Amino acid sequence: MGVVLALSDAIVGQDDAALLLTQRTNQMNFPGNRYIPTCSAANEDTNLKNRILIFDTTLRDGEQSPGCSMDVREKLLMARKLVELGVDIVEAGFPIASEDDFQGVEAVSREFPGARVAAFARCCSADVERAAKALRYARQPRIHVCIATSEIHLKHKLRRSQSQVLQEAVQAVELARRYVDDVEFSTEDGSRTAPEFLEQIARAATAAGVRTVNIPDTVGYSTPKEYGALIGRVVQALGDTAVVSAHCHNDLGLAVANSLAALEAGARQVECTVNGIGERAGNCSLEEVVMILKVRADQYPFRTGVHTEHLYSASELLASLITFGPQPNKAIVGRNAFAHEAGIHQDGYLKYRATYEIMDPKTVGVPASRLVLGKHSGRHALRQRAQTLGYELTDEELDALYLRFSAAAGRRKKGFMDEEIQDLIEQGRHPLRRVKNQSTRTEVAALPPSASCEGI
Ligand SMILES: [Zn+2]
Repeated sequence: MGVVLALSDAIVGQDDAALLLTQRTNQMNFPGNRYIPTCSAANEDTNLKNRILIFDTTLRDGEQSPGCSMDVREKLLMARKLVELGVDIVEAGFPIASEDDFQGVEAVSREFPGARVAAFARCCSADVERAAKALRYARQPRIHVCIATSEIHLKHKLRRSQSQVLQEAVQAVELARRYVDDVEFSTEDGSRTAPEFLEQIARAATAAGVRTVNIPDTVGYSTPKEYGALIGRVVQALGDTAVVSAHCHNDLGLAVANSLAALEAGARQVECTVNGIGERAGNCSLEEVVMILKVRADQYPFRTGVHTEHLYSASELLASLITFGPQPNKAIVGRNAFAHEAGIHQDGYLKYRATYEIMDPKTVGVPASRLVLGKHSGRHALRQRAQTLGYELTDEELDALYLRFSAAAGRRKKGFMDEEIQDLIEQGRHPLRRVKNQSTRTEVAALPPSASCEGI
């Protein structure tokens, strides 16, 4: 770190000049690669003013966290899904970090010419040049430069003064602008940076040519009120000159809440990852922030370009590429996100879905809600499952089945398959009338029965 850039024409060699020209030419061919103003912009297009850019960093910030590494082939698979999902920017890697990272950015740029592809770089010439090279096939390239700005990082990590950091930031932005029109600047540990300096460096970077200023809560320390106020201050300082972006980590479980606070304060880009993967406790979860904006549009009058019906498959694909999936109770994409076990809930849900479901699972690509038969389940849900399996039960038969089910559930800790539920039905004292056979592969979680067999 710490290479002070000497900005002269000598820095951009002949190859680089050709590269620069190619990228500029490519950009001109794609009118979609244009500046989108902040909410404070005096723009008559209200749709544009409330459009939130989804910057996906699953392949960079997510991929660099434990258990999440992906090779080039896997990155391409995930990038295809991100493009299908409709994210606005795909951050494909940190090219100087490794040859794999470089190749990942290059491959994503080549395979998905319609996508806006970002490459990460620290504020030094070697990083910026490597990022530019990796992006040479991208038709909408973005170089994302980053430098730490907080006192604690300056003192203990960079060992530099604020003025040195400011100078390096400006030089890196200017160099990046020689290669691409679309440059993003991030202030690492921005949420713990003195607001005056944050404003100063954000203004300087914008004057040097960035289109997006990102203020990360790198260590997941901020709170919604605090982060929203800081973002609002930067939005006010920059006016129409750049999009302000939120980048939140989840160390205190506030990444999504902080991102929403940023949007309310005028940020128009959210950086996030599928399943919320990322350093330590992860990044802002893409599926959560997108669905909050969709389901609670009354509270957040914004829109994204995400096709939400692909959220579940994106989550599943990522889980198959890395070493872990989302926890079962993860919002939106967890296995239990649309599962109902409590008897009162199941009864209400079966009568009218909206009693206990705020989203139709199909809107996020989950095929159907799941009624889990366990110790909290009631007869209504058991009758419905029997019907699904092809049995019409009388009330007496249902009572008898319920007793057998409760006893079986008490002996089992793990769920059992529909075939086993079918066996329980067949064990009935009275021959049951089986009207049809609709075998499904639903797994039934059978837990020890409680006295009440009801839940809240
Ligand atoms: Zn991060």
